[in-house]
Amino acid sequence: MVKLMDLCDYAPGYIRSIAPYQPGKPISELARELGLNEADIVKLASNENPLGISPKAAASIPGAIGELARYPDGSGYELKQALGSKLGVTASRIVLGNGSNDVLEMAARAFLAPGIKAVYAQHAFAVYPLATQACGAIGVEVPARDYGHDLAAMLRAIDRDTRVVFIANPNNPTGTFVAPGEMHAFLRQVPAGVLVVLDEAYQEYLPAELRADSVAWLSEFPNLVITRTFSKIYGLAGLRLGYALAHERVADLMNRVRQPFNANSIALVAAVAALNDEAFIQRSRDVNFEGMAYLTEGFKRLELSFIPSQGNFISVRVGDGAEVFRRLLKRGVIVRPIAGYGLPQHLRVTIGMPAENERLLRALEDALHE
Ligand SMILES: *Cc1c(COP(=O)(O)O)cnc(C)c1O
Repeated sequence: MVKLMDLCDYAPGYIRSIAPYQPGKPISELARELGLNEADIVKLASNENPLGISPKAAASIPGAIGELARYPDGSGYELKQALGSKLGVTASRIVLGNGSNDVLEMAARAFLAPGIKAVYAQHAFAVYPLATQACGAIGVEVPARDYGHDLAAMLRAIDRDTRVVFIANPNNPTGTFVAPGEMHAFLRQVPAGVLVVLDEAYQEYLPAELRADSVAWLSEFPNLVITRTFSKIYGLAGLRLGYALAHERVADLMNRVRQPFNANSIALVAAVAALNDEAFIQRSRDVNFEGMAYLTEGFKRLELSFIPSQGNFISVRVGDGAEVFRRLLKRGVIVRPIAGYGLPQHLRVTIGMPAENERLLRALEDALHE
């Protein structure tokens, strides 16, 4: 008889040493712990859209229920057509994922292996080190500059064993942003044998003047992969849908490691509807812009410094992040501690609806004086 301990010892060391991803605390969990109504809890912890789901997406779902006994369209034909015509790319350049998390992992699995290196920045999105480690590859973390990507240092960190560079723009959890010109100059200097995964989960929140035409860069750089998601501005985090745009051959490799039915049929239908809900996207952008202005004013009033953000969230320096997080929880407000990202003095706050932002500021003021 093999004892379970012995069995698990056979798992590769690089798997056993993975530190699990820490998700935001669910509303239902805090409600149980505090004996509160879920409706009295404010969650600004996972960069979800405070407006909820796009109304057009919501309206599309009932019609898809009748098909749920069947497997989804594994090729995602309709959604790829919709994305293709919106973005000006052919379907062969699109890879669909169970959230963009999934496509990030596909990129890692297609190009990384034990002994191979992936480069990413300090304070970068947690999925990059996780996906790297799950492949047994070596993660190279490059120190940040002013909390953001130090692209020159990242270039210097690339060596002959490097196969992937991960960059989120804007970055989560810092909200820092690399201007289009700088990003393009970086891409020109990355060796052609290194894949650049440009994670644009918050791209749709950028004001028009900051938004790069990154999709156009795909024809210039066959080693570029752009990832985007329906979890943020489109308000579909619970349905799990994201996508990657890449050169056909890169997309083909990623599709080989993709689970055949990774995008479910409700998500596929809802995403097509959400993609064309321009009014909702614009409203989401406006609510975010106003909420960001309101919160940054509030932080200034409380004499708290913060990292200027181009996302739908902002990281504010509160001193002892873990302690202030707990004090906020007692007041029914869930934010995100980010010590795991090397920022123990900061808390990341998702921009909410006006009443939620107001509640956060009041609770924060209270918590700081407790
Ligand atoms: C939220 C986020 C994602 C999206 O995750 P999904 O798996 O699509 O829900 C990807 N990258 C970054 C940097 C994010 O913050």
